[in-house]
Amino acid sequence: MRIYIDFDDVLCETARALSAAAKKVFNRDVPYEKITVFNLQHAFSLSGDEIDQLMDLAHEVDFLAELEPASGAVEAVRKLRDKGHEVVIVTGRPSYCHAGSRAWLKKYGLEWIEVIYVDKYGRAPKILPPDAPPMLTLEQFYKLSFDLAIDDSPDALDLLAALDNCRILIYDRPWNRAYCSNENMQRINEWVDILRLVEK
Ligand SMILES: [Mg+2]
Repeated sequence: MRIYIDFDDVLCETARALSAAAKKVFNRDVPYEKITVFNLQHAFSLSGDEIDQLMDLAHEVDFLAELEPASGAVEAVRKLRDKGHEVVIVTGRPSYCHAGSRAWLKKYGLEWIEVIYVDKYGRAPKILPPDAPPMLTLEQFYKLSFDLAIDDSPDALDLLAALDNCRILIYDRPWNRAYCSNENMQRINEWVDILRLVEK
């Protein structure tokens, strides 16, 4: 199977780290369970300048490298590879975050995984630094194929719904609990459930 895995809040606990950062930097106390919308500017009641500042911090190498793995994620991804599956990370992070992405993957022994940057949210910078990998447009993304995809963001799930022959797993998070899924989609709570599903 060729398996699409999202990075933030599927492989690692990004929203929890952002919640802590919003508290520290802007004194906004919105714990993880209260993040019920995917738009963090709204979730944390931040101004335009404040969300830009928070995102700049979130894209720093050290911030990305220090994110906690989601429970069981690292072991599960290794097991999927050992069973012969092709695991690919498909992230909406801007691709100038590549050094931070690589640092995290290296830290957890997952440096062999390919990372594909896709402009999932229409926020790709117009000009990327020369050392950043390309960011795929949605048109380019739709030329790829996957047998299984795991994502947490409602917008990304909407994009995935248009892929042919791809089973979609919604990684349960507070901000996607109201998401109306279609018949190709299934909600999962943890990585052991993903392994179980793939083995079936
Ligand atoms: Mg995500």
